[in-house]
Amino acid sequence: KISIFWFRRDLRLHDNAGLYHALKKGMPVLPIFIFDKNILDKLEDKRDRRVEFIHQALTEIQVSLQELGSSLLVKYGTPEEVFPELLNQYEIESIFTNHDYELYANERDENVREFVTSENIEFNTYKDQVIFEKKEILSGTGTPYTVFTPYSRKWKEKLNEFYLKSYPTEKYFKYFFQTQPFEIPTLASMGFETIGTNFPLKVVRDSIVKNYAEKRDFPAIVGTSRLSVHLRFGTLSIRELARKAISLSETWLNELIWRDFYFNILYNFPHISQGQAFRKEYDKIVWRNNETEFKAWCEGKTGYPIVDAGMRELNATGFMHNRVRMIVASFLTKHLLIDWRWGEAYFAKKLLDFDFAANNGGWQWASGSGCDAAPYFRVFNPTLQTQKFDKNLEYIKKWVPELNSFEYPQPIVNHDVARKRVLPVYQEALKGL
Ligand code: FAD
Repeated sequence: KISIFWFRRDLRLHDNAGLYHALKKGMPVLPIFIFDKNILDKLEDKRDRRVEFIHQALTEIQVSLQELGSSLLVKYGTPEEVFPELLNQYEIESIFTNHDYELYANERDENVREFVTSENIEFNTYKDQVIFEKKEILSGTGTPYTVFTPYSRKWKEKLNEFYLKSYPTEKYFKYFFQTQPFEIPTLASMGFETIGTNFPLKVVRDSIVKNYAEKRDFPAIVGTSRLSVHLRFGTLSIRELARKAISLSETWLNELIWRDFYFNILYNFPHISQGQAFRKEYDKIVWRNNETEFKAWCEGKTGYPIVDAGMRELNATGFMHNRVRMIVASFLTKHLLIDWRWGEAYFAKKLLDFDFAANNGGWQWASGSGCDAAPYFRVFNPTLQTQKFDKNLEYIKKWVPELNSFEYPQPIVNHDVARKRVLPVYQEALKGL
């Protein structure tokens, strides 16, 4: 009899909660990963950096497992197809995996749980992706927080060694199922192309974390960790990063807490997964939704250099600096009065670190409709933002080299006109509140 460990957003062998529990049981553990057709078939662009990233991460895991005489079994299909197949092939006693909080993931896991438990197989899941999950952080009255500051205060109060300690999987590596190596399907065999992306390194650089508070707002420099993709796919452990943050930078720790906070919102306020504004009254906003303007925004041709630089960085690399994410999101929703959901969907297609909770949180923050959002009357002024955060136009010139030539477009809308246009639209929607 064997156990199965099912990798999803936790693509690492070290400090992995579910994997630790699987191995500790002392039964041979067959590690698996499923390239899920339910997800992959929805990706229109077959040059997808996320799929490429996952493929690389699995290849790394494969190398380590082979050194241990084991192998990762990688399937291409839907979980509904793969589990019955596995049950036919192996005598399985239990399945181990880590919690995943997104809507589709919840349904998927419930279906798999139902199926395998009906076959008398245990389905065990663990918290791994966050420090605190679900209802672990509640206010004094027992309700989930919707404002960051009190949430983070409670988070810090509740934190102790227990929540930060790593799971020493390596103690039990001998329990990995011993087998001849399995082949990982190639990207091409699944209809994807290899892009050859240079992914951010999987290293936490102390100097960046230490200077984070002073440097994090300037997109021309590497002042932030660039670890988001590793947190997204679990190639690094959140516990390891939180320990680092505690010893080096409270400001950076707060960013990691924002990440937990948005997972907390996703779990406790499921309506945000159904395309609704966190504050429902914001769904009364009458957006302009001009498609030509949306296209200009996507392509980085709005005539606002900081906005265009950000969108071009995103299109070219899959990354955008946080300061610039806030600026482009404010510009789309406030200056152009385009529904934040259009921007959210575009980011979801392009971001290497795309994560539903953080992305939805970021977009609703910018549009004003979110929990603890920017007040609706705050309209970022792209020119002032540039003066503050990219004074020498270094970031802008990198992405918009034609800035001073006649090729560069005129501003798509005048800032003052846009500001005067958006306020009454929001006021109308929020009337009577
Ligand atoms: P650092 O500044 O070094 O922060 C460390 C880590 O903390 C990040 O890697 C990330 O995991 C977490 N973090 C930081 N800021 C936030 C935040 N505001 N919310 C949640 N987690 C945070 N982040 C994503 O991971 N995925 C997304 O899809 C995403 N979409 C966003 C959309 C918008 C409109 C906005 C305004 C922000 C979005 N963010 C998203 C948050 C943030 O921009 C990125 O996490 C950050 O830019 C990643 O760079 P870094 O790794 O250098 O972060």
